[in-house]
Amino acid sequence: METDARANFDAVISIGSNIGDKAGNIARAISLLTAGGSIQLAARSSDYRTPPWGNTEQDWFVNACITVRTTLSAHDVLARCQAVESELKRVREVHWGPRVIDLDVIWFRGESIDEPDLIVPHPRTLERAFVLVPLAEIAPDLVIAGRTVSAHLSRIERTGVEPYGE
Ligand code: ADP
Ligand code: MG
Repeated sequence: METDARANFDAVISIGSNIGDKAGNIARAISLLTAGGSIQLAARSSDYRTPPWGNTEQDWFVNACITVRTTLSAHDVLARCQAVESELKRVREVHWGPRVIDLDVIWFRGESIDEPDLIVPHPRTLERAFVLVPLAEIAPDLVIAGRTVSAHLSRIERTGVEPYGE
């Protein structure tokens, strides 16, 4: 079984979009994030169509997860994610509202970080199907908070999270 120490990646990043060309936004975000070479793609899930959460009046999302290799720190990875969000002109208007792109650091080398600007593992990871379903595709045996991704997924409701085809 793959443990934290033996994972062949350094970080897990969840990506979501619910405005415009949603799948295109996710593809662009992955290209931008990995373009400099300091963050390398290890694996990419397929895209999923997912129901809105938080403010449920908004449009449905496309979500995906990636695993990456990097020698950067968790804070540097977060900074790169935020740079990609800015580059894709994400508008931060409504908390938990519509967004062109959202990149969250879900897991980072098994580290526990609890700082004002960075909490890892990401708090909503273990209860959100829009994170766990894509992540189970690429890292089902990754252990987060003492349980595999598959085990976390088996404990939650995943209704409405469906493969997003072309
Ligand atoms: P959310 O992703 O919860 O919908 P935002 O994307 O607007 O909300 O994030 C708000 C803040 O969350 C960011 O300014 C960032 O500093 C903070 N944050 C804390 N932990 C993380 C994490 N693991 N990944 C991404 N952002 C995080
Ligand atoms: Mg975010």
